[in-house]
Amino acid sequence: MPRVVIVGAGFGGLQCARRLVGKPVDVLLMDRHNYHLFTPLLYQVASSLLNPSDIAYPVRTVFRGARNVAFRVAEVTGADLSAGVLRTAEGPDEPFDYLVLATGARVNFFGQDTIAARAFSLNTLSAALGLRDHVLRCFEAATAADLPNRRRLLTFVVAGAGPTGVEYAGALGELVRIMAGRDYPGLSRADVRILVLEGAERVLPAFPATLGADAQRRLQRLGATIRTGVRVESADDQSVTLSTGEIIPCGTLVWAAGVQPNTLDGGLDAPRGPGGRVAVDDSLRVPGRDRVFAIGDMAAFTQDGGPLPMLAQPAIQAGRAVAANVLRDLAGKPMRSFRYKDPGVMATVGRNAGVALIRGIALKGWLGWVTWLAVHLVFIIGFRNRVAVMLRWAWNYFFYDRPIRFIIGSR
Ligand SMILES: Cc1cc2nc3c(=O)[nH]c(=O)nc-3n(C[C@H](O)[C@H](O)[C@H](O)COP(=O)(O)OP(=O)(O)OC[C@H]3O[C@@H](n4cnc5c(N)ncnc54)[C@H](O)[C@@H]3O)c2cc1C
Repeated sequence: MPRVVIVGAGFGGLQCARRLVGKPVDVLLMDRHNYHLFTPLLYQVASSLLNPSDIAYPVRTVFRGARNVAFRVAEVTGADLSAGVLRTAEGPDEPFDYLVLATGARVNFFGQDTIAARAFSLNTLSAALGLRDHVLRCFEAATAADLPNRRRLLTFVVAGAGPTGVEYAGALGELVRIMAGRDYPGLSRADVRILVLEGAERVLPAFPATLGADAQRRLQRLGATIRTGVRVESADDQSVTLSTGEIIPCGTLVWAAGVQPNTLDGGLDAPRGPGGRVAVDDSLRVPGRDRVFAIGDMAAFTQDGGPLPMLAQPAIQAGRAVAANVLRDLAGKPMRSFRYKDPGVMATVGRNAGVALIRGIALKGWLGWVTWLAVHLVFIIGFRNRVAVMLRWAWNYFFYDRPIRFIIGSR
């Protein structure tokens, strides 16, 4: 049977493979990790609410019983698209008849090496766990520190007020309420400073202005200070320097200010579109390659004059469309053009507070929050994970508790 190789078991790759289960193709799904990660809830792992196992799901379990889908953990380093071969770091290489590239995105530090060396990011499970450990370590160290050092250790700078920065800052505000004065009787909420910095002129620039303003108010209620039109320019062990020239002593810098596509680091000879994402045609094919597709964050699919946003839904819908086009091609039918149907955007800002724009309808406050909860529960992979997340959310809601306050990793 024709061999379809899919690189990346994230939102796009997983959907594509699922749509090919039981079809007349041999599928090989590859990923550097052996799990699918539900990235929208990573910030809840970083803020002591969820366990890694609640938001990660073993890929092999997803395809248990699917006879035509195999999985391999490997680091894909490149592809020879003319020869139809995919290169892996560990070997052996993998031949393909159809190739689907769905390698997602990674953090973009915009070439700022000092920030890359110092900042915590929120893009992988290990990064989220590292941030959780570090925040808790800052509190521990602050209990024994003199006043200037206590202030520094308990100053948390979040760079970027898009959904990731806003959601993490809100969750951190709630964690601080639980810990300061209770777990740490010697530390008060007033000792803690959460500073959210945004280079654009307002919070949540991709949302309507009213929703951005609402999110800002709610973040402030949770104790965060918001500053717009200002960027972090550099960082060292003790402080960050802003675009205004100010130096802010801080114990933690969380970088939520940019992502870039993962395009196999030069191992892929394919034209690039906006933002360095791989250019694709209207059927999501790499130009000049009839059987090579690119989807999700790594691909620059253009619709209505701009590339699709780097979000889960474009990747999911593209994954499904590519699976359908592979089957159409095999059946001798022409491939269909892809059209993204935008279901909207949403973010949560702590308990009872969310903002959402769904099919043009703006929701905020409790309604926005409940919508956010429901949508995220539906999209988590795996029944066990759904139940686990729901129980932890309920526990947090009724008992004001983020119970996973453990320092696990080494410093
Ligand atoms: C913290 C955070 C919060 C987010 N919140 C939201 C949200 O609330 N809503 C939303 O819609 N979107 C959100 N996103 C964005 C969303 O995660 C992405 O848009 C989505 O994951 C893109 O899907 P994808 O299939 O293109 O890539 P991914 O889901 O990222 O999957 C890429 C896969 O490729 C694998 N991979 C990459 N390179 C290689 C390689 N060389 N070899 C082998 N495997 C490789 C990776 O391990 C990964 O499993 C968030 C992202 C982050 C980081």
